[in-house]
Amino acid sequence: MSLPPNHLPSNTVPSLSADESLFHSEKALELKREICEMGRRMWLRQYCEANGGNISCRLAKDRFLVTPTGVSKGFMTPDMLCLVDGKGTQILPTTGPWHHSTEFLTHLAIYDAVPHAASVCHAHPCHAGAFAIKQLELPTRLIPEMEIFVGRVPVALYETPGSPMIAASVAPLAPHHQSILLGLHGLICWGTSVEDAYFKIEITDAYCRTVLLAMPLPGMAAIPSEKIGDLMERKQKTGLPDSRFGLTPAEFCAMNPWEYLKGDFLGSTNANQKPGFLPDPEDLADRITKKIISQLKITK
Ligand SMILES: [Zn+2]
Repeated sequence: MSLPPNHLPSNTVPSLSADESLFHSEKALELKREICEMGRRMWLRQYCEANGGNISCRLAKDRFLVTPTGVSKGFMTPDMLCLVDGKGTQILPTTGPWHHSTEFLTHLAIYDAVPHAASVCHAHPCHAGAFAIKQLELPTRLIPEMEIFVGRVPVALYETPGSPMIAASVAPLAPHHQSILLGLHGLICWGTSVEDAYFKIEITDAYCRTVLLAMPLPGMAAIPSEKIGDLMERKQKTGLPDSRFGLTPAEFCAMNPWEYLKGDFLGSTNANQKPGFLPDPEDLADRITKKIISQLKITK
């Protein structure tokens, strides 16, 4: 039982609250440093401009460390991090300039939907952003590492950043996808550590960059359908989630929203395509966009 402050002997230093002890613990300091380091990498790789982007991690049951708003993620120090509860209320610091990101509500939706998610990173990387502003799900079957470490990257259609609606649109996707495009906004990823969540951003954006570079080039192959089983078997052993486990190769291929572009993109079967023919990138992007928007059905 603790005495009220006015009953404490004058030479007694009031003890820290449980939250203060947690917030200043060795474990918290280690995680704060890791968040600052991932923020530095995000900024250096141009994944977040100005004060954009945000990172959080679970510190304890119902307690999260969250990056501050209004600060470049490349120049954070551990003392800027905020302690926030599972309802999105900031607990510490109670005074000072640091207030947690308003986009943390979206992170909370992921933590609620995926109990083993340890961290969430949100950024605005340009290559993934190009797909986000078209609200295009990424093509699949192009790079094995992408299939294993990230898998399908669906689109959560545009909602106002930080609103309960965007949190609600991300929640049903999170159990099946560690990397989710936010329509007309950016990319959000969860991981089993802060670095793992950051890695999903890095892998996804590198993949988008490769796809964008490849789009104007003629004739591309796709991972053969008969080889898909090997990849999924390997992925299942890692414990990573994927909504395509258990599908037949044909079903797996049918889930690729770009599959119908076989002749244009996923294979060199376009009869009109001559060797060395380079389609106009703008024309190709326009055709792809129109086709996908008219045919794409976003699934969980
Ligand atoms: Zn954002």
